[in-house]
Amino acid sequence: MLSDGPILVWFRRDLRLVDNPALCWAAERERPVIPFYVLDKESGGRPPGGASRWWLHGSLQSLDAALISLGSRLVLRRGSLSRIVPELMRETGAVAIAWNRVPDPAAAQDEKIVGELCRNGGLQTESFPAALLFDPGSILTSTGTPFRVFTPFWRKCLSLGIDRGCLDMPRWASPARWPESCPLDDLELRRGARMWDSGLHQAWRPGESGAWARLEQFLPEALQDYRGQREAPGRAGTSRISPHLHFGETGPRRIVRRIDDLGLSARADPFLRQLGWREFCQYLLHHFPQMTRASLRPEFDRMPWRHDSEGLRRWQKGTTGYPLVDAGMRELRTTGWMHNRVRMVTASFLTKNLLVDWRKGADWFLDTLVDADAANNAAGWQWVAGSGADAAPWFRIFNPVTQSRRFDPRGLYLRRWLPELRALPDKFIHEPWKAPPSVLSDADVELGRSYPLPMVDLQFTRKRALMSYRVQVLGRG
Ligand code: FAD
Repeated sequence: MLSDGPILVWFRRDLRLVDNPALCWAAERERPVIPFYVLDKESGGRPPGGASRWWLHGSLQSLDAALISLGSRLVLRRGSLSRIVPELMRETGAVAIAWNRVPDPAAAQDEKIVGELCRNGGLQTESFPAALLFDPGSILTSTGTPFRVFTPFWRKCLSLGIDRGCLDMPRWASPARWPESCPLDDLELRRGARMWDSGLHQAWRPGESGAWARLEQFLPEALQDYRGQREAPGRAGTSRISPHLHFGETGPRRIVRRIDDLGLSARADPFLRQLGWREFCQYLLHHFPQMTRASLRPEFDRMPWRHDSEGLRRWQKGTTGYPLVDAGMRELRTTGWMHNRVRMVTASFLTKNLLVDWRKGADWFLDTLVDADAANNAAGWQWVAGSGADAAPWFRIFNPVTQSRRFDPRGLYLRRWLPELRALPDKFIHEPWKAPPSVLSDADVELGRSYPLPMVDLQFTRKRALMSYRVQVLGRG
């Protein structure tokens, strides 16, 4: 039984009102509820990159607007959690605090600190799982060890059954007096975001209602042929729900529930499998917290990575001379997102053709992706680099020209992101350096001026990558 006084609800990467167990718990106690968010630059591991900060601004704005429409509001504070939480406890006379757990070891550390502070201050503390379909701690192999391979992991998850329960938005009371809140602009999340602003605004609508608009657009039609369309970067064949999932504007349970309600469950397996990959990445980070910086297969840390700052810069800018790589890197710079197939190709080019350490690429992605996610990103990079759990073998080196021909045969994607190549015929757009001079001049392309020549030779760099692996990683001469 709780004594009189409000309940604090600590929002983090669960910026939603539907299927929010912490909010539901607080509402059921029939006490005033005070939702709050703290921007603590020192907490939660690596600080968010520019695109993530842009997103967070929009998401907090949207959550506050939704709360205001319900007679509530979001209290914002900036500074150290261990200072601000006790301040809020004192200012409000709160009797309890509730939050949804974030499946990331750095975030779990924050939860430990806040939990202890609150309990020492006499508050009841409650926390809930809300971000995943399965609890990473309870899925283990028959010998009690964590899975390292996706397929048996997912099989085991499915054998337990997907939790399809999705909580409705609750109703709750507000306090008679609100604690002070700082203006959203004081969090300075969009400071220096000018480079991003217009492309991101055009591409995205952060917030719970934006997440729903996106799913309602995607699920009814695209799910019908997701398997056939998901690999084509030139088509809108995937959901683009990743940033909304990262910030918890929707949870996966609500997506699964909506698929059921639309009567699409029979066709949903390939899409659910992708949600399964998300579960697997979060699961890996839970069991191997070092994976954001260390190769999961330690022998890969013997790889003789090259210090190629010029190569890295050209890759980041999308001026490598390989159209699929450049299109992807420019899509990323403009919209903060990149198609999964192209993420694999660009990551392979950096780690294998340029032989640049996967951590450098992962850092750039974390700075520029709106869906930047410690677990998914590290797992993706380690998968491509070959150093991860269940990774692609090192000798699987994506050829950006072959990939481009196969997944974007008519150059839809290339033309969208590389306008300077737009007039090239399909036959040459994947490798403009093979086009005869007359074709180039008809298309107004001057190699080395309007579009770069290839910065490296694919055959030579492929052999160099294979040799480095054999000698340094396998220790064979
Ligand atoms: P859909 O195809 O519609 O899939 C639905 C959801 O399933 C996605 O939103 C995502 O949450 C999950 N999902 C799909 N594919 C994967 C995958 N391979 N791994 C993990 N989850 C997946 N994803 C991120 O969310 N954040 C990252 O920082 C990130 N970095 C990546 C880096 C590299 C090098 C690679 C190869 C992949 C990375 N991914 C990352 C995974 C994947 O590319 C994106 O999740 C996906 O492109 C998001 O688009 P979507 O929402 O349209 O996906």
